Amino acid sequence: MREVVDVVVVGAGASGLRLAGILDQAGISVAVLEARARVGGRLLSVDPGVDLGATWFWQNENEVREVIQECGLETFPQHARGNMMYQIPGSVQELDGNPLDQSAWRIAGGTQKLAIGLAESLPPETVQMSTKVIALHFESTGDPRVTVSTDQGVCTAQCVVLAVPPATALANISFSPELPADLVSVASSTPVWMGAVTKAVAIYDSPFWRERGLAGSAMSHVGPLREIHDVSDVNASFGALFGFSRERISEGVITAQLAEIFGPEAKTPRSVHIKDWSSSEFTSPPGVHQLNDYQLFGSKVLREAHFGGRLFFASTETSIDSPGHIEGAFAAARRSAESIIAMRR
Ligand SMILES: Cc1cc2nc3c(=O)[nH]c(=O)nc-3n(C[C@H](O)[C@H](O)[C@H](O)COP(=O)(O)OP(=O)(O)OC[C@H]3O[C@@H](n4cnc5c(N)ncnc54)[C@H](O)[C@@H]3O)c2cc1C
Repeated sequence: MREVVDVVVVGAGASGLRLAGILDQAGISVAVLEARARVGGRLLSVDPGVDLGATWFWQNENEVREVIQECGLETFPQHARGNMMYQIPGSVQELDGNPLDQSAWRIAGGTQKLAIGLAESLPPETVQMSTKVIALHFESTGDPRVTVSTDQGVCTAQCVVLAVPPATALANISFSPELPADLVSVASSTPVWMGAVTKAVAIYDSPFWRERGLAGSAMSHVGPLREIHDVSDVNASFGALFGFSRERISEGVITAQLAEIFGPEAKTPRSVHIKDWSSSEFTSPPGVHQLNDYQLFGSKVLREAHFGGRLFFASTETSIDSPGHIEGAFAAARRSAESIIAMRR
């Protein structure tokens, strides 16, 4: 681990990696400490290029489009053609058209490519994987540096940015001296966007539902998947359906529901991936299902510097622009970077 840097960024998700890139461009030395053995956080793509975290971006999201361009990524519109399905107890109806899937875009190969591209643009060894930050110590007298304790050793920095959902940061990291009471109250109550959700993706040899004029989208009042979309690749070289749920789900239950909606072929996917984000320690704190006050997103106290400019928060939940989205994570990164750069002038 690099023992002395200007800025430690906690978390190599969209916000942490974007922030590190902007600071590096400004000549500020950065270490990004990431608890997991991968970059991306809630950007998580698995073979053959399907997303278990974020899937879409929108054309009005300028920060995302800028990163896509910088990383040279290919994009394509979300498949929307065909009819959507509507499931209620005892029946499945085919609606006329597909209002569910309008105007969203996807990244070929999956959204994690954003994080991989940003990480690759940083100087070597900027990102240290498998390094969990466990404590931050802010000296009140003498040395103004922050001491960052991890499960891999200790380093110091002029300031630390928590590019982690605020409630998750407070659940896993201890602070000395203690954080101000108003900050603790807001940070620990701020929901984690999609943190209480399970996402399931079923992969097929082809998007067979399209041949029947179906879009692959569905709303369900039965569950366990409540909202379903077609996430086949751009050339339809494989078919894929994903759904969101807030229940504990198994492969058998998912394929049974997909077969009820899209027909018997849906019963036998090539593979099924299930990701429960609520039990993911580095995304969601215990009790994430109870965090529901979305008005706390972008709270002033989360956008301010603390301990005399030595502590910042920068996850998507801290953003005023598009909070919850990838766009919000990049906007939060830009806001924090501008504050840090301004303080050094
Ligand atoms: C199922 C799902 C679907 C979504 N769909 C969309 C979508 O379609 N479009 C969209 O725009 N957004 C979507 N989102 C939201 C989007 O993924 C997030 O807005 C964005 O990825 C958040 O980035 P972030 O950097 O703020 O936080 P995160 O991605 O959560 O990054 C935080 C990072 O910090 C690390 N970390 C945590 N604790 C520590 C610690 N103590 N020490 C070191 N590292 C630590 C984590 O491992 C992680 O890498 C979705 C999210 C989910 C889960």
